[in-house]
Amino acid sequence: MSGEVIDSQMALADPRPDSGAAALSRASVATLTAAERERVLAKSALFNPPEAGLPDGRRELVGMDRAELAAELAAIGEPAFRVKQIWHWIYHQGVTDFARMSSIAKPLQARLAEKFVIGRPEAAVVQTSVDETRKFLFRFRDGQEAETVYIPDPVEDRGAVCISSQVGCTLSCRFCHTGTQTLVRNLGSAEIVGQFMAARDSYGEWPSPKGETPRLLSTIVLMGMGEPLYNYVNVAKAMKIVMDNEGIGLSRRRITLSTSGVVPMMDRCGEELGVNLAVSLHAVRDDLRDELVPLNRKYPISEVLAACRRYPGASNARRITFEYIMLKGVNDTEADARELVRLIAGLPAKVNLIPFNPWPGSKFEPSSRSAVDRFARIVNDAGFASPIRTPRGQDILAACGQLRTESRRERPAG
Ligand code: SAH
Ligand code: SF4
Repeated sequence: MSGEVIDSQMALADPRPDSGAAALSRASVATLTAAERERVLAKSALFNPPEAGLPDGRRELVGMDRAELAAELAAIGEPAFRVKQIWHWIYHQGVTDFARMSSIAKPLQARLAEKFVIGRPEAAVVQTSVDETRKFLFRFRDGQEAETVYIPDPVEDRGAVCISSQVGCTLSCRFCHTGTQTLVRNLGSAEIVGQFMAARDSYGEWPSPKGETPRLLSTIVLMGMGEPLYNYVNVAKAMKIVMDNEGIGLSRRRITLSTSGVVPMMDRCGEELGVNLAVSLHAVRDDLRDELVPLNRKYPISEVLAACRRYPGASNARRITFEYIMLKGVNDTEADARELVRLIAGLPAKVNLIPFNPWPGSKFEPSSRSAVDRFARIVNDAGFASPIRTPRGQDILAACGQLRTESRRERPAG
């Protein structure tokens, strides 16, 4: 398996001069990808959230990177060392009240409180499932809403926080409840980090542990509402904050970003964030994937897999996860399983088989347990781990693909 991966990496790094035609086509692929990336980023920026802060002018500190925080503090005449201090209070101690920052003198605490706020999204609804999964409906300052789910490990004292990256989604995967809600807007970095911080509040999980000490809320999966790679700038900023060692300090190994295959942004995500990658594959033929995951018409299976082969940091220790939703009579035959294995041959990968979670009005049915087991066996026999995901929080519509809110986009006037 790894042999082929190393071969393809060597091919990329091959120092021999290219033949003219090959060099040209390689250069144009790179240019095209860069141009496409710019186009994706520009389009995404149109859906950016309003400025984080309160109507009275107080600025939101959560979600600022260190440089922005330094600039804000400099503007009120505070030296650079305050950044470290305040960062520690916000992201390590989890305080939301400047008066609790005991290493800061009272007059400065008061000045900070006049200018700034350390906010959290409002938990409008919190529901806990019979299996202990907890779903939060978070309401942001402009009234838009998104859902976050905490999924405790059934055996160990840890769990994953499933975070949303957008309100709604531009993509309309046929099996996904979020996909029936049009994209309202991107979530800002404050709102993305804020989901994790508010979930931690709910379990009293502050201060952050040092290093790798496990916690209940110990991993992040970007698998909630929205396509994270269509909101890359805000997602990346938020993940860098979460990974910062002087604050929450989550290792990139504890973060998994799931994408439906936004090829031009996959490279950038790997290079800049190095988080684990999950790819929603769901079909092994382009004609079917075009139907199930309409983004496939733009970035077909071969391009998605090529981007996976290039993904920096993927190794046998850090495999790419292929998510494959099992839909009865649609994509669950033994032939599909064999084709899947052929497609991902040579990749450090595992396959997560997801039983379809129904939602009100959905048209698909979950595959039978025996079909799932047969599929899993073929994938597993080919050397790929093929865990079958246990649906969690189904009773509160908190399972994969069941998230949706009532938030709507205002129609533009005229
Ligand atoms: N937009 C990203 C991340 C959010 S979706 C993506 O598509 O990858 C997270 C995962 O839930 C994806 O693998 C998605 O395909 C899966 N999913 C969507 N609807 C589902 C459903 N009804 N049942 C089970 N899984 C579903
Ligand atoms: Fe969007 Fe992912 Fe749902 Fe597809 S599966 S509609 S990309 S959230």
